[in-house]
Amino acid sequence: MNLDAKNKIIIAGAGLSGLATASVLPQNSFMLFESEAEPGGLCRSIRHEGYTFDYTGHLLHLKGEMLEWVEKLMPNNLIVQKRRAYVFSHGRMIDYPFQLHFGQLPNGVRDECLCGFEEIQDSKIDITNFATWSKTTFGKGITKYFMRPYNEKLFRTKLEELSADAVQYIPRPNLEEVRQGALGKRMTHVGYNAEFRYPAEGGIGVLPQALSREIKIITSAKIEKIIADEKKISVGKEWFSYSSLVSTIPLPELIKSIADAPSEISSAASSLEAVGVLCLNLGIEGKTSSAHWIYFPEQEFPFYRVGFYHNIAPYSAPPGKSSLYVEISYKKRTDLPKEIVEQAIEKLVSAGIIKDEKKVEVRQKLWIDNAYAIHNSIRKQALDTILPFLKSKDIIPIGRFGRWTYTSMGEALLEGREIGIKLSNSIST
Ligand SMILES: Cc1cc2nc3c(=O)[nH]c(=O)nc-3n(C[C@H](O)[C@H](O)[C@H](O)COP(=O)(O)OP(=O)(O)OC[C@H]3O[C@@H](n4cnc5c(N)ncnc54)[C@H](O)[C@@H]3O)c2cc1C
Repeated sequence: MNLDAKNKIIIAGAGLSGLATASVLPQNSFMLFESEAEPGGLCRSIRHEGYTFDYTGHLLHLKGEMLEWVEKLMPNNLIVQKRRAYVFSHGRMIDYPFQLHFGQLPNGVRDECLCGFEEIQDSKIDITNFATWSKTTFGKGITKYFMRPYNEKLFRTKLEELSADAVQYIPRPNLEEVRQGALGKRMTHVGYNAEFRYPAEGGIGVLPQALSREIKIITSAKIEKIIADEKKISVGKEWFSYSSLVSTIPLPELIKSIADAPSEISSAASSLEAVGVLCLNLGIEGKTSSAHWIYFPEQEFPFYRVGFYHNIAPYSAPPGKSSLYVEISYKKRTDLPKEIVEQAIEKLVSAGIIKDEKKVEVRQKLWIDNAYAIHNSIRKQALDTILPFLKSKDIIPIGRFGRWTYTSMGEALLEGREIGIKLSNSIST
């Protein structure tokens, strides 16, 4: 057994969170292991037949210090875009967000949404679950035509089973705004993602590449086993000791790899749920929509969202061509029919997004098995059990999958850096 110095910090995973942690630690104070051949995690990009694809659209919503940091990392390589997003409903492409633009739908639907919103004006917001939150925040109509079908399609879970603890990103207009929207006023620049940034060249992968420049990463090195009581990990046949282990490994996998995890911790971890996303990247001859992305709440479409890389950054597709990401969620890969790609393309044609399926010249499937943690009551109980255990063993779970939550790239960078600074201070004192 090859045990190294006991005071090393070990970082598991070179996605944005792990890289951000490493970026503020003294070079010789940590070892960063990444199971894949290259760093970046979900923020890698793939070049394929002249196209640059991501693991679905990865758009930067950064503010303050994080924005300054990313601008410094990628000088002159960030473009700013004003969102062009739509919702496809009742055969129409209406402006996003739905709650401000349902006036663009048939009159019956518009009236149901507006009356529903007016009815709840005096009610108290009920956060028992996502369904009660939606009904008391937006009313019955908006819940029926957008909030329920869209979120149930994305999370593959009944709205009543989802908790209302991750709804802060949903724009909540007031009555006056909703009435104006119902009369046809366009109010497209609301919400946290009204504007976004994206690399002018190279796909989102240039961000982890820039972060990795000065960091020593041990790639193709999967952490397989952890002995928490002895504070050591195994990679292949080697063992390494740590003072603190910063983990971005998906939480259920982390717990599985802890050989001496008590049974109540293992059983709490096995109750955590997620949905995966099949990212279907398409290269298409000719031009398609001018949108950045479109939401599809209705059941007849197997995807919940379709985005357009070539509108996000023009170099993403060769001249005269388009590139799309089609997002399809699943609980298990086998839940999706074998013909899912053909079905999705057929529906893109029926919605008028693609003129003819013969124009699709590139099809690439990327499976993201843990894409969205399911926020439900089980998750809360499980985290209340697991997190104190990890803390007692100096294991610090961070990042979207490490903490089993929804966080953005900006939050991953911020969280990773804050943990790194804390650890760095504890080394120097
Ligand atoms: C479909 C989708 C769309 C998204 N769109 C956006 C967006 O538009 N804007 C935005 O800001 N955010 C977006 N996000 C969120 C963003 O992707 C994440 O917040 C961010 O990438 C998380 O980084 P991370 O380092 O925490 O995790 P990851 O990127 O998953 O990195 C974890 C790393 O750990 C490695 N690893 C795992 N197990 C081991 C092991 N045992 N040993 C060693 N290494 C291991 C993995 O290979 C990986 O490289 C999106 C997420 C999804 C799923």
